[in-house]
Amino acid sequence: MCDRQREEGMSRRALLGCVAVGAAATASGMFGSIALATPPPGTSQSAPPTLTPEQVLSELKQGNAAFLQGRSTPGDVRGRRRLAIARAQYPVAVLVSCSDSRVPPEVLFGKGLGELFIIRNAGNTIDTAAMGSLEYAVAELTVPLVVVMGHERCGAVAAAVSVVENGATFPGSIGRMVEPIVPAVLDARRQGAVDLLDASVRANVSRTVGRLRDFSEPMVLDRIRSGRLRVVGARYDLDDGRVDFFDEGPIRPRT
Ligand SMILES: [Zn+2]
Repeated sequence: MCDRQREEGMSRRALLGCVAVGAAATASGMFGSIALATPPPGTSQSAPPTLTPEQVLSELKQGNAAFLQGRSTPGDVRGRRRLAIARAQYPVAVLVSCSDSRVPPEVLFGKGLGELFIIRNAGNTIDTAAMGSLEYAVAELTVPLVVVMGHERCGAVAAAVSVVENGATFPGSIGRMVEPIVPAVLDARRQGAVDLLDASVRANVSRTVGRLRDFSEPMVLDRIRSGRLRVVGARYDLDDGRVDFFDEGPIRPRT
């Protein structure tokens, strides 16, 4: 454990590893180097993937199709895989998804250790911690695809709907947590949604996708504009297990 971790307890950086952050740190160097152990005999470090955003999106769709058909096999979680990626990670996609226990991304897409960089909170919103995590994955790990995934009957979105419809209030930090979802509910209501909750789930995803595409830091925007990164939306259906991708955006030539 490094000094910073001792000072801050189990901070977000604990997820990313102990890192040295200097006053003159740059975006590309701010996470420093992680002290690496000698790789175990018989294992090798995974090479960085060269998959395009389109290839990764296709992989996820195929993985969910297999899950739907009940022939999904769990991703590779064997010891050999664990050792192969112990010194570095090369995930292929960032998932911004809900904490809901029924929505585990690796299971829905048949992915294993080291394949998905997952940011989860109730309502799949992007706060500072989530944005920093995403920027790290995109800029430092060169992940080519970001999927913002809501889901059917999301409790956090339902709470935001009740704020709008009934003036509901919630104890503790729950009210502040659902605040960012309220504009999505207002959008859905303005558009005359018949099923306000489900329309709000989609609107919440679309708003986040739009924000990431249009208002991210250059480290993210540059990769989108050069075709090295795509940001797409998705909705998971709790009843039938299907992930419906939408807001996929244009396919840009890689430059
Ligand atoms: Zn949810």
